[in-house]
Amino acid sequence: MINFNVPPVTGDELKNIEKAIENKKICGDGEFTKKCNEWLEKNTKTAKALLTTSCTHATEMSAMLLDIKEGDEVIMPSYTFVSTADAFVLRGATAVFVDINPKTMNIDENLVENAITDKTKVIVPVHYAGVSCEMDMIMDIAGRHGLSVVEDAAQGIMSTYKGRALGTIGDFGCYSFHETKNYSMGEGGALLIRDEKNVEPAEIIREKGTNRSKFFRGQVDKYTWVQAGSSYLPSELNAAYLWAQLEKADEINADRLENWNNYYDGLKNLKDKGIIELPYIPEYCEHNAHMFYIKTGNCDERESLIDYLKKSGILAVFHYIPLHSAPAGVRHGRFSGEDRYTTAESERLLRLPMYYGLRKEETDYVIEKIISFYNK
Ligand SMILES: *Cc1c(COP(=O)(O)O)cnc(C)c1O
Repeated sequence: MINFNVPPVTGDELKNIEKAIENKKICGDGEFTKKCNEWLEKNTKTAKALLTTSCTHATEMSAMLLDIKEGDEVIMPSYTFVSTADAFVLRGATAVFVDINPKTMNIDENLVENAITDKTKVIVPVHYAGVSCEMDMIMDIAGRHGLSVVEDAAQGIMSTYKGRALGTIGDFGCYSFHETKNYSMGEGGALLIRDEKNVEPAEIIREKGTNRSKFFRGQVDKYTWVQAGSSYLPSELNAAYLWAQLEKADEINADRLENWNNYYDGLKNLKDKGIIELPYIPEYCEHNAHMFYIKTGNCDERESLIDYLKKSGILAVFHYIPLHSAPAGVRHGRFSGEDRYTTAESERLLRLPMYYGLRKEETDYVIEKIISFYNK
């Protein structure tokens, strides 16, 4: 059986967790959390990175930092994971969904400006499959309308847009270290902060509304409750797990890209014949092989292919029932303009097995089975 996903393990995880236990520091912000934060700052060149309990929570922190309130509107694609909307809807905002570009499955930057009203506060580009949205245009629109940008870069760690790390271009960037992502700590994430001025407010929200971080740096004599906050600090045990992977980030990235390229080369013939579609990577984007997907002719064909692969011992999955058609999406959101591609393209997309350690023979076997499906 070829699984769809296997959580990443490099071999140093237990050793790191034992070290955290020896350190007698298993709550947050110990040695390993600091190492991970510093790694993120160095490798993405952002002002500040803070590990969080999830990407959902990092996005929630952004919503709090931007003071999102009842009645505010937030622009995002409908083709995304629920967390993108949840973080803002939880604060009373309305999600305003914009159609996607079928080539990348990312928000169509040409439709964003039309969705802006006098209630709009934030644009949330989601870098689907670790392939960047058209950030120059999105940042330009945000600048001209006085809007903030929160990048949902849950899938985008190690990817770049014109040489800049995803998650570092907007005001805030949100990474995920869920077990389905390229680097994992079980459940976890990180908030990337572009501007110095937002660092202290973020530290306070993350630490139950206290200035505890300042206290630990010796900048205040005692720490106190300074505003409403929450607890977004992950355990050291989780950070210790993550550190084992960040240390081998290049190796993990190269391994995934090899599998991705093998899929692409092996399926290119079907694409050239117009039978399936393959991912498109704009030339100014470097991607991280977070996902390999194909697009079948239609929804029925996708179902038959999933069945066929399952009978061959291969688990392939699809995702994202567009948010605007989900019950909560109907209640908390609206679609701006026409749904030309979101629903139609989401029904054709199929994700192939992709994880660190997937062997070339396995991707070859998946390719062979897809080709034989279309030959019969
Ligand atoms: C995985 C994912 C999230 C949520 O990440 P968590 O760390 O599980 O909260 C949010 N947005 C997108 C696009 C994702 O893929």
